[in-house]
Amino acid sequence: MKKMAVVGAGTMGNGIAHVFAQGGWDVTLIDVAQPQLDNALAVIKKNMDRQVKKELLTEADRDAALGRIATETELDKAAGAELVVEAATEAADLKFQLFEKLNEITAADTILASNTSSISITEIAGHTDRPDKVIGMHFMNPVPMMKLVEIIRGLGTSDETTAKVTEISSSLSKTPVEVNDYPGFVANRILMPMINEAVYCVMEGVATPESVDTVMKLGMAHPMGPLALADLIGLDVCLAILEVLHSGLGDSKYRPCPLLRNMVAAGRLGRKTGQGFYEYN
Ligand code: NAD
Repeated sequence: MKKMAVVGAGTMGNGIAHVFAQGGWDVTLIDVAQPQLDNALAVIKKNMDRQVKKELLTEADRDAALGRIATETELDKAAGAELVVEAATEAADLKFQLFEKLNEITAADTILASNTSSISITEIAGHTDRPDKVIGMHFMNPVPMMKLVEIIRGLGTSDETTAKVTEISSSLSKTPVEVNDYPGFVANRILMPMINEAVYCVMEGVATPESVDTVMKLGMAHPMGPLALADLIGLDVCLAILEVLHSGLGDSKYRPCPLLRNMVAAGRLGRKTGQGFYEYN
């Protein structure tokens, strides 16, 4: 049995646990908050039920996959994993602490991956004594549906680790793309300035959120407008990524829009809180 652990059971953690369990892995899903774990299991089940309805998954395979997911509130439970994918809150100090602890509790050959959107893999690796086995495994949201995994090589990541994680991603029916470790990598370095500019358009009264999104959907053939996408990602996550781009690249073009800051301060984080640029039931 292939054993892996996911740390953080939020928007991304539940999706990552879903695809690994469906791919035959024994998954330990870990979060500090029990309600997050309960919610994650409910979301995974709902999403797998949807796959069954669409005949993408059999009922027996769904039940087997669900049976492979265990939930835990203690990080120590990651100990027996051959791969850990960290998907906790996007905060550098938190990730550094988690990797220090993971380095202590897991076997020396365990690969430690982060799903971070923007924090330096090289810096995270600096909090372990196995930088060759630390790598970025950046899944896209919603994980079960999106094909891409951005594989981020830190300065010390070995060829062997990169090859293994690339192979694992392919085995989950994902398409891995290798990139180097610079702020925002590729996906967010390009996506976040667009989202930020969309927020500026709303703040400056250029157009309503609906109009901005319609322009980008119909005019640029984007499947989803940038503001609806920001609500899906989480406005707090968007702000955190923009802060990393701004400080890491030192260019004022990445400064977060004041309206984005206000919305995060007001707790309007998008879908996960029921309100962002749009309202959700
Ligand atoms: P989220 O806020 O939905 O979930 C984060 C989870 O981490 C929460 O459940 C929280 O309780 C948990 N957590 C916090 N501290 C922890 C700890 N010490 N141990 C275990 N769990 C802990 O966040 P998210 O959107 O799922 O993002 C998670 C990571 O994935 C971030 O690094 C983010 O940048 C990245 N990411 C997010 C998206 C997206 O669209 N939201 C896309 C790609 C990557």
